[in-house]
Amino acid sequence: MADCDLCGRSEPTLIPVRVKVPTYSYVYPEGMWRNLCERCLELCAETERRMDKKIVEGKCNLSLVEGDVVEVEIEIPSFSKGVRREKMYIAPDVLKECARVYDRYKKGTLPPFGEF
Ligand SMILES: [Zn+2]
Repeated sequence: MADCDLCGRSEPTLIPVRVKVPTYSYVYPEGMWRNLCERCLELCAETERRMDKKIVEGKCNLSLVEGDVVEVEIEIPSFSKGVRREKMYIAPDVLKECARVYDRYKKGTLPPFGEF
Protein backbone atom coordinates (compact mmCIF):
# COMPACT_ATOMS: atom_id res chain seq x y z
CA MET A 1 0.00 0.00 0.00
CA ALA A 2 1.20 3.48 -0.79
CA ASP A 3 -0.31 6.90 -0.40
CA CYS A 4 -1.28 9.12 -3.28
CA ASP A 5 1.08 12.10 -3.50
CA LEU A 6 -1.82 14.52 -3.96
CA CYS A 7 -4.77 13.41 -1.85
CA GLY A 8 -3.03 11.00 0.53
CA ARG A 9 -5.46 8.19 -0.22
CA SER A 10 -4.01 4.73 0.43
CA GLU A 11 -4.41 2.51 -2.58
CA PRO A 12 -2.91 -0.87 -3.41
CA THR A 13 -2.11 0.40 -6.88
CA LEU A 14 -1.15 3.92 -7.67
CA ILE A 15 -0.22 5.23 -11.07
CA PRO A 16 3.38 6.44 -11.34
CA VAL A 17 4.15 9.74 -13.05
CA ARG A 18 7.73 10.79 -13.61
CA VAL A 19 8.26 14.38 -12.54
CA LYS A 20 11.41 16.46 -12.81
CA VAL A 21 12.16 17.88 -9.40
CA PRO A 22 14.99 20.43 -9.77
CA THR A 23 15.60 20.49 -6.01
CA TYR A 24 16.61 16.83 -6.19
CA SER A 25 18.00 16.78 -9.72
CA TYR A 26 21.48 15.83 -8.54
CA VAL A 27 20.08 12.71 -6.83
CA TYR A 28 17.36 12.01 -9.39
CA PRO A 29 18.52 13.48 -12.72
CA GLU A 30 15.85 11.49 -14.57
CA GLY A 31 13.11 12.82 -12.35
CA MET A 32 11.26 11.30 -9.43
CA TRP A 33 8.28 9.02 -9.43
CA ARG A 34 5.18 10.57 -8.02
CA ASN A 35 2.40 8.13 -7.32
CA LEU A 36 -1.11 9.30 -7.96
CA CYS A 37 -4.43 7.57 -7.50
CA GLU A 38 -6.75 7.20 -10.48
CA ARG A 39 -9.14 9.92 -9.27
CA CYS A 40 -6.40 12.52 -8.85
CA LEU A 41 -4.96 11.70 -12.24
CA GLU A 42 -8.45 11.98 -13.74
CA LEU A 43 -8.95 15.39 -12.11
CA CYS A 44 -5.54 16.50 -13.46
CA ALA A 45 -6.46 15.31 -16.96
CA GLU A 46 -9.84 17.10 -16.77
CA THR A 47 -8.17 20.30 -15.65
CA GLU A 48 -5.54 20.03 -18.38
CA ARG A 49 -8.30 19.80 -21.03
CA ARG A 50 -10.12 22.86 -19.75
CA MET A 51 -9.80 26.08 -21.72
CA ASP A 52 -10.31 28.21 -18.63
CA LYS A 53 -7.51 26.81 -16.52
CA LYS A 54 -6.80 29.01 -13.55
CA ILE A 55 -3.11 29.87 -13.57
CA VAL A 56 -1.65 31.48 -10.50
CA GLU A 57 1.75 32.14 -8.98
CA GLY A 58 2.77 29.43 -6.60
CA LYS A 59 4.66 26.25 -6.01
CA CYS A 60 3.96 23.00 -7.80
CA ASN A 61 2.85 20.29 -5.34
CA LEU A 62 4.63 17.63 -7.38
CA SER A 63 7.79 19.22 -8.83
CA LEU A 64 8.23 21.83 -6.05
CA VAL A 65 9.01 24.40 -8.76
CA GLU A 66 7.87 27.94 -8.07
CA GLY A 67 6.28 30.02 -10.79
CA ASP A 68 3.13 29.69 -12.86
CA VAL A 69 1.02 26.82 -11.59
CA VAL A 70 -2.41 25.55 -12.51
CA GLU A 71 -5.05 25.29 -9.81
CA VAL A 72 -6.48 21.77 -9.58
CA GLU A 73 -9.30 20.80 -7.23
CA ILE A 74 -8.38 17.53 -5.61
CA GLU A 75 -10.82 15.39 -3.63
CA ILE A 76 -9.38 14.52 -0.24
CA PRO A 77 -11.08 11.60 1.51
CA SER A 78 -12.80 12.78 4.65
CA PHE A 79 -14.48 10.62 7.27
CA SER A 80 -17.19 13.15 8.06
CA LYS A 81 -18.06 14.35 4.55
CA GLY A 82 -16.94 11.63 2.20
CA VAL A 83 -14.70 13.95 0.26
CA ARG A 84 -13.39 17.41 0.89
CA ARG A 85 -12.23 19.51 -2.04
CA GLU A 86 -8.85 21.08 -1.73
CA LYS A 87 -6.86 23.18 -4.15
CA MET A 88 -3.53 21.87 -5.29
CA TYR A 89 -1.14 23.58 -7.63
CA ILE A 90 0.62 21.87 -10.47
CA ALA A 91 3.10 23.30 -12.97
CA PRO A 92 1.73 23.30 -16.55
CA ASP A 93 4.29 20.81 -17.90
CA VAL A 94 3.71 18.43 -14.97
CA LEU A 95 -0.06 18.67 -15.49
CA LYS A 96 0.43 17.83 -19.16
CA GLU A 97 2.46 14.77 -18.19
CA CYS A 98 -0.29 13.69 -15.74
CA ALA A 99 -2.88 14.02 -18.52
CA ARG A 100 -0.69 12.02 -20.91
CA VAL A 101 -0.16 9.25 -18.34
CA TYR A 102 -3.90 9.16 -17.57
CA ASP A 103 -4.69 8.85 -21.24
CA ARG A 104 -2.30 5.93 -21.64
CA TYR A 105 -3.63 4.39 -18.43
CA LYS A 106 -7.20 4.52 -19.81
CA LYS A 107 -6.12 3.03 -23.10
CA GLY A 108 -4.22 0.32 -21.26
CA THR A 109 -0.96 1.23 -22.96
CA LEU A 110 0.89 2.22 -19.83
CA PRO A 111 3.87 -0.06 -19.30
CA PRO A 112 4.33 -1.65 -15.87
CA PHE A 113 5.87 0.46 -13.13
CA GLY A 114 9.34 1.72 -13.85
CA GLU A 115 9.58 0.57 -17.45
CA PHE A 116 9.25 3.86 -19.23
ZN1 LIG B 1 -5.11 10.92 -5.06
